[in-house]
Amino acid sequence: MLRHLVRRTSSIRAAFPPDSWQAFTACLPRTSRFMVGQLDAVAASAALHPIHPPNHSRGLTTGTTLTGNAASNIHAASAESASEFLDDPGLLRDEAYVNGKWVKAKGGKTYEVTDPATHVVIARVPSMGAADTRGAIEAAAAAWEGWKQKTPKQRGDVLRRWYDLIQHHTMDLAKILTLENGKPLAESRGEVGYGASFVEFYAEEAKRTYGEVIPSPTPGRRLVTIKQPVGVAALITPWNFPIAMITRKAAPALAAGCPVVIKPAEDTPLSALALAELAERAGVPPGILNVLTCPREHAAEVGLELSTSLNVRKLSFTGSTKVGKILMRDSASTVKKLSLELGGNAPLIVFDDADIENAINGVLAAKFRNAGQTCVSPNRLLVQSRIYDEFVSTLAEKVANLQVGHGLQPGVQIGPLINPGGLEKVQRHVHDAVKKGAQVVTGGDLHALGGTFFEPTVLGDCRPDMLVFTEETFGPVCSVFKFQAEAEAIEMANATPFGLAAYVFAGDVGKGWRVAEAIEAGMVGVNEGMISTAVAPFGGVKESGVGREGAKVGIDEYLETKYLCLGSFR
Ligand code: ADP
Repeated sequence: MLRHLVRRTSSIRAAFPPDSWQAFTACLPRTSRFMVGQLDAVAASAALHPIHPPNHSRGLTTGTTLTGNAASNIHAASAESASEFLDDPGLLRDEAYVNGKWVKAKGGKTYEVTDPATHVVIARVPSMGAADTRGAIEAAAAAWEGWKQKTPKQRGDVLRRWYDLIQHHTMDLAKILTLENGKPLAESRGEVGYGASFVEFYAEEAKRTYGEVIPSPTPGRRLVTIKQPVGVAALITPWNFPIAMITRKAAPALAAGCPVVIKPAEDTPLSALALAELAERAGVPPGILNVLTCPREHAAEVGLELSTSLNVRKLSFTGSTKVGKILMRDSASTVKKLSLELGGNAPLIVFDDADIENAINGVLAAKFRNAGQTCVSPNRLLVQSRIYDEFVSTLAEKVANLQVGHGLQPGVQIGPLINPGGLEKVQRHVHDAVKKGAQVVTGGDLHALGGTFFEPTVLGDCRPDMLVFTEETFGPVCSVFKFQAEAEAIEMANATPFGLAAYVFAGDVGKGWRVAEAIEAGMVGVNEGMISTAVAPFGGVKESGVGREGAKVGIDEYLETKYLCLGSFR
């Protein structure tokens, strides 16, 4: 479909004299103009990376940077159209947000943000580093006292306005999200709603940060605890949920009375800046919410500054276990309070008495969200031998029908992978599995759209010595393993240093419960593939992290419990 649209756009364009094409597109409605710009870009990108016929043996597509005339044409076309296709173009910001001001990097440099589906440059944002980070931390520390002194209700009122604004601008936020992340627009809308739900929840929860009165063992004393904000919180977030990962941290922090310094992922800063714009409109005071943008090359220096600063009292990170360990090590120097939500390697167990249709729907919902680039996506499907063949063939049929394309295109269910590095990992996992004897039931290769698109894939006959078992694939690949008995399934599920999410599908509820208890994971879905919600605690065990986000426990991550002992009572 996308290829067809690209060809149609190219051929219509070819029929116009060069100057009249721009005049023609200028007359189109805003959204159509944007789509034409995107399709032009895909066409130009395909010219650089020819579209391959399916099943053709292909190498890695790592050279996806556009160069030469095509790149400059695309840039000129998209920079203009990207802000025009929003109802409120003011949400597309290209400066960082520090101390209530929109600012450039101290060094004056910028870096490019691209659409992963077309490699079109959408914006250039400040390339910040250690000095910018110090400035943001100082601003946050200076603003803390005023925010801390507000009542929980006053802070909750500001959060409530932020929530209303996020809801009001759902469509614009979703478009920005799809543009920079690649996920289908319907998923982006879902993410905006999910992200907003944390703001709504913590707007209320601010009022419920209760202390305790403890019966004293000694006469003449009264013992109480009060909850106080921990202080400036550094929030480092990933690209796979550019809105929800920020609100899941920022909302409880702000509700608790903590200012935040946010470092969004380099691939997806625009969603973070749009959230900052709405926070400003909601009345978040200067210095209380800051967003630093930086390219990957600066992530380590910004991270070091955040984790070693005495003024930063809390660090919350979502991302890889590798980076989480670095931040944990560096934060030790200031004994910082930490929340780490790290990598997963989720097992999904299907017992032979399960409702197979429900299990397959669970797999489709949990596995293919964001093209499989979700830390709670099932990575290893463990299927009991008696139903194995039927399960694999039914799953493969459904997976083969998933629609792949640009996330703004209606009906698309799978977008591109975020970047060439993500694609390379998926390819490496598939190659390794096939080399060791896995069977490609469907997919298994680069998608005909080229770029970082990968075919939705089902691999059968997988074994524990494959990378698809030991590492998180983070792509649209279902790796299916066979087991015979319950104990074997539990052993396989736990044979990993990770423990974020897990799923069990079983007809016998007792078995589902028993296995859920036995699996080493922070969250288990029993006969359910979609488990994330603002009202339940999200987090992992083992190398999947420490701390919990969401729910009433989520705000405790930003609070200290202070004990007061009142003596001399008669
Ligand atoms: P991924 O591989 O999915 O990008 P990462 O853990 O590398 O996951 O990235 C998650 C977030 O951590 C991003 O915002 C990224 O910029 C940031 N990051 C990467 N390296 C560091 C580092 N050394 N210190 C602090 N943050 C980092």
